[in-house]
Amino acid sequence: MNPSGVPSPSQHMTAERLHAAVAAKRSVAAEAASEPRSGEPWEKTNKITPALSRVDLRRLAYGRRAASRKILVRYSGGEKYGLDPIKLPRCARCGQPVESGVGVMTDGEKARFTGTMLCGSIWACPTCSAIIRHERAHEVALAIGNHAEKLRREAADQWQADHEGRQLPPELAVSDGFGYYLFGTLTLRHDRTMPLAMTLDAILKGWTKLINGKPWKKAVERWKIRGFVRAIEVTYGRNGWHPHIHFVIFLDGELDNEQQRAMHDWMLDRWKTMVERVAKAYRKQDGNPYNVAPNDEHGIDLQFKAGKDAGTAAAEYITKVQGDKGSVTLAQEIARGDIKDGRSGSVNPFQLLDSGCLGLSDFQREDLWLEYWQATLRRRCITWSRGLKEDMEVEELEDEELAQKADELPGLVGYVVSNKVYKDVRKRTPELLADALEAAEHEDWQEVARLLPGGVILNDEQQDMIADGDAKPGDFLPLPDSFQDM
Ligand SMILES: [Zn+2]
Repeated sequence: MNPSGVPSPSQHMTAERLHAAVAAKRSVAAEAASEPRSGEPWEKTNKITPALSRVDLRRLAYGRRAASRKILVRYSGGEKYGLDPIKLPRCARCGQPVESGVGVMTDGEKARFTGTMLCGSIWACPTCSAIIRHERAHEVALAIGNHAEKLRREAADQWQADHEGRQLPPELAVSDGFGYYLFGTLTLRHDRTMPLAMTLDAILKGWTKLINGKPWKKAVERWKIRGFVRAIEVTYGRNGWHPHIHFVIFLDGELDNEQQRAMHDWMLDRWKTMVERVAKAYRKQDGNPYNVAPNDEHGIDLQFKAGKDAGTAAAEYITKVQGDKGSVTLAQEIARGDIKDGRSGSVNPFQLLDSGCLGLSDFQREDLWLEYWQATLRRRCITWSRGLKEDMEVEELEDEELAQKADELPGLVGYVVSNKVYKDVRKRTPELLADALEAAEHEDWQEVARLLPGGVILNDEQQDMIADGDAKPGDFLPLPDSFQDM
């Protein structure tokens, strides 16, 4: 599936066609670079600070991935075990070589490494998370577009049945005004004494109770609920961990003000009831219950949206990182200097990997990162109600498959470096991996060779052999890496 609707080049195209495709992309990319950067629609709502450039974001992500790896390696028993890939958590293995030699590849616009693995963790991997969230945002936007079109077709069919032989009114010819959505955020009362494993569990159980049982079934009929997408977002701040749920409910019909109010009150009431019920199960060490039930003003925020703009808004809503100051995109969140000194009081978990974050000591930050990594393991971050993806013609893909798919862009391998050098850079100066990709995107292979020394700049013939599957990047290294080096 390709959510943008643009056919993707075949993975098996011949080297000659690949060369032409890369050249064509390069000229488009060069043209685009001369224009002001616009970005994806959901990356555009930058009102706080200018977004970081792609290379800055990538440097930050590679740096954080290495910081996370260091913590997880130590947790797994130190380098002694850390060198044994089997004993390391999957997300500490992200970017690890899996063949002999690492290739640097570009399609003329974007670059990536080949011969390395991606962990595919949306929660705890700074690099994979960005890829997966980006893809998930596409899915939500696609589903909303298809939903609106379905509703338009139904309305148009009905109109034609009622007005035989007459021409369709213009508003029924386009789907822009169709589709009705309820955007919501659900939270819990939280404080520093509460472990994330507990609050995350409570919020997930509360949600499961909310969307099951007879009352929910009745609500589905009453307000024409087609389905929902929900995502968990976790932040950390002065009051400790703050997990919350964002959801978008798809409605098949428009609700008037009175219906909107009724649905709002019903949800608020039900959420509070469910959370109170769930909360009883959690006790402090002294036997007293934790008070997680939200009070009236907090705990829930609902907004009804309709029409074309809802798609972009929903994609952003479900996949964004939310800060205390309202909705901001990941790029802005990362770029906000005020977060580091703790003035804004709340950070996304990846920021815990930055030294000095919230004025925490390294020991505290590492402890918090481990707590977050463990609490989110095997939890689902973004889920859809049963049947909604199929209904909206969105392909079912696991996070790992999505990351893999995004990593399969065809292109030409311009440089190959030994696993040993690559691994050393990945561990000690991970930002240079981002710089190497940036250089590859400009086809500055000399610069790539400077950043990842000791490798080989490949000539056209060698590039073609790899593209045609007749050779592997590692074959062109002067001394082939042994697999022990992986
Ligand atoms: Zn990863």
